[in-house]
Amino acid sequence: MAATRTIELATALPGPRSREVVERLGASVARPLSVAFPIAAAEASGATLTDVDGNVFIDFTGGVGCLNVGHAHPQVVAAATEQLERFTHTDFTVVPYELYASLAERLLEHAPFAGPAKAAFFNSGAEAVENAVKFARAATGRSAVIAFEGAFHGRTMLALALTSKTHPYKAGLGPVAPEVYRVPFPNAYRGPSTEEALTALRRAFATEVAAEDVAAIVVEPVQGEGGFVVAPPQFLRGLRALCDEHGIVLVCDEVQTGFARTGRFFAVEHSGVEPDLITVAKSIAGGLPLSGVLGRADVMDAPGEGAVGGTFVGNPVAQAAALAVLDVIEAEGLVERSAAIGETIRSRMQAWQARWPQIGDVRGLGAMLALELVEDPAAREPAPALAAEVIRAAFERGLLLLKAGVHLNCIRVLVPLVISDGELDEALAVWEEALAAVL
Ligand code: PMP
Repeated sequence: MAATRTIELATALPGPRSREVVERLGASVARPLSVAFPIAAAEASGATLTDVDGNVFIDFTGGVGCLNVGHAHPQVVAAATEQLERFTHTDFTVVPYELYASLAERLLEHAPFAGPAKAAFFNSGAEAVENAVKFARAATGRSAVIAFEGAFHGRTMLALALTSKTHPYKAGLGPVAPEVYRVPFPNAYRGPSTEEALTALRRAFATEVAAEDVAAIVVEPVQGEGGFVVAPPQFLRGLRALCDEHGIVLVCDEVQTGFARTGRFFAVEHSGVEPDLITVAKSIAGGLPLSGVLGRADVMDAPGEGAVGGTFVGNPVAQAAALAVLDVIEAEGLVERSAAIGETIRSRMQAWQARWPQIGDVRGLGAMLALELVEDPAAREPAPALAAEVIRAAFERGLLLLKAGVHLNCIRVLVPLVISDGELDEALAVWEEALAAVL
């Protein structure tokens, strides 16, 4: 019942104007900033994006998970515009503003902290992660940080040290920050099990770094760039217990999982675990650059005055947008919508998995879902070329999909949660056609 027809392809892809823009980008922009799709955006709204040739796409990438409330949500646009006209910047630590307190209060209402909690705002996800480590180091007087295989925490030198992917992120760019230790992350499809991963972590306290030297364990409740690998609730509970035992700060990186993506406001809520710190970014401000650290007040208050900050940290335009994002999530019931969309997509993916053996795994939480493509189901050899072909075939049919995974053999869903049922149906039909064409 594909009632709507949102996708409209006016030209062959890429169209002539897009081709022109992409050519100019090639000549004037540094090569590492390569692009996934050879089109140039003209405008976007909700779950759709129109390019400069008038081609209309359904966008399952959501700007890599920054658009849970959709492109250009009218309430977000209005709030940002109003603030833009009022004032754009003071430097919060020179002349503060009420928005900062309002956003801290509203976010902390959503965060799973039982006791007193505080917030601090930054610009990017990486910057939030860097600062979470500063808070943890100041609070514990320790330096070591533990991160997981398959993790992604950003590209600045400490965040990059925590990130677990050599190509393209780390190779040739070191040295990165010291005192980062890597341990396995549980993976239901490929192993290890939760128990094996917790055992490896306990072993690392004997072989790699003394528990009393560890300031923080940084974990994604669902690994994002790593391929939407879900941390089992027992694993997060195990980390919580080890952190309690050894006085370690538990940091949940919710940069990609937060803001209703997984069918809860924060993904860690699925486990009932209370972290010490949560990092947020991406969807926080509907596409404007903003990030934050939320956490236990004693940890957040630990660094000395001025030890944490930055010129643009907590920009008022982005914060006004973020308050509107919270209004939209609450008013439009996007937490519930995420769970519902997730059910629809997951059951469709499972049907695809039954039909095509190259779909080795279907996994995720809520509307944070991915397919993992393999050469064959027995060998589970990653099939990155197949993933790329499926993404290309979907693009040619007007659906924007994004890859993920340490081997880039996963295709992930970061669709705006405001997508209509008709658009969702249309997009899944297109994805199915792309799979049929390639597999
Ligand atoms: N943490 C996680 C879990 C992420 O997914 C990302 C970005 N993909 C980051 C941190 C880094 O965020 P940013 O790119 O805004 O620095």
